[in-house]
Amino acid sequence: MTSIRSIILLLSLINAFPTASKAEDDMDNMDVNEMIARANENTTSHLTFGDIAPTLQRNADPCTATGCKWPKTGGFVYIPVDISRSYSSAQRRIIIDGLVSFYQETCIRFRWRRRENRNFLYFFSGSGCWSYLGRQSRGQAISLQSNGCLFLGTVQHEVLHALGFHHEQVRSDRDEHVTIQFDNIIAGTEGNFQKVNTNNLGTLYDFDSVMHYSNRAFSKNGLPTIVANSNPNLSFGRAREMSSNDIARINELYDC
Ligand SMILES: [Zn+2]
Repeated sequence: MTSIRSIILLLSLINAFPTASKAEDDMDNMDVNEMIARANENTTSHLTFGDIAPTLQRNADPCTATGCKWPKTGGFVYIPVDISRSYSSAQRRIIIDGLVSFYQETCIRFRWRRRENRNFLYFFSGSGCWSYLGRQSRGQAISLQSNGCLFLGTVQHEVLHALGFHHEQVRSDRDEHVTIQFDNIIAGTEGNFQKVNTNNLGTLYDFDSVMHYSNRAFSKNGLPTIVANSNPNLSFGRAREMSSNDIARINELYDC
C-alpha cells in the first residue's frame, strides 16, 4: 500500500501544475507573502515572524547546526509526509505538486509516512498558513488553510521553513542590503522584522527569494517597511515560487 502511494506521489511529476482555479485567479496580483499575510490576518496571535509556529528551544536557522536538519540517506533527504483527509483530491494535488517541485533540482524527497516514522510533516487545513522552523521531534504540522494557502509558492514557502529556512529579510546580514522602516510598521507586528542569527550558507542576499517579504509588508500607512539600500525604488518580494538561490541554499544546507 505504501509503495503504491509513493508511486502516485512520483507520478504527480507528470502533471505538476494544476489548472488555475478561481481562487488562484483572484490571487493573481498577490505575491506569496501577501497571500500568507492575508490568510493569517486573524490568526497571527500564536505565530512569530508572521507564519512560524513558536517552539521552546528552536526558533532560528542556527538550529540546523544542532539537530533540526532532516537526515540524509544514500544521497537523498527523505521526509515522511501525511496529508489531511479533509482536503479534496484537487487540494491534495496542489500540495503534492508543491512537494514534487523540490525533486527537480534538490535532493529533498517526500515519502508517505509509515507507522515507524517518528518525525514527519503533517499538512492540514488549520487557521492560516504556518509552519515550524526546522525538523521538530515527532510529527510537526504545516497549516495550509484550504481557502487562502493552497498555491505552489505558499506550499514551497512553508516547507522551506520546515527545512530550516527563515525569511530572507531577517537574515543576519540584512542591514547591508535593506533598511527596515520601523515608523511605517503596524504597531505590534515589529517582531516580524527582528533580525535573526542565521547561517547564510555563503549565498547572496536574494530579493527574489520566495522567503522575502515585499516592500510594504505589515505597512500601517501604505509606505514601504523595507527599502533596498542599493536602490530605494526597487520592488521586491514578488516571487511566486522558489528562486534559483532558494534552491541553491537547500543544496548547500543539505549537501545535495
Ligand atoms: Zn514564512
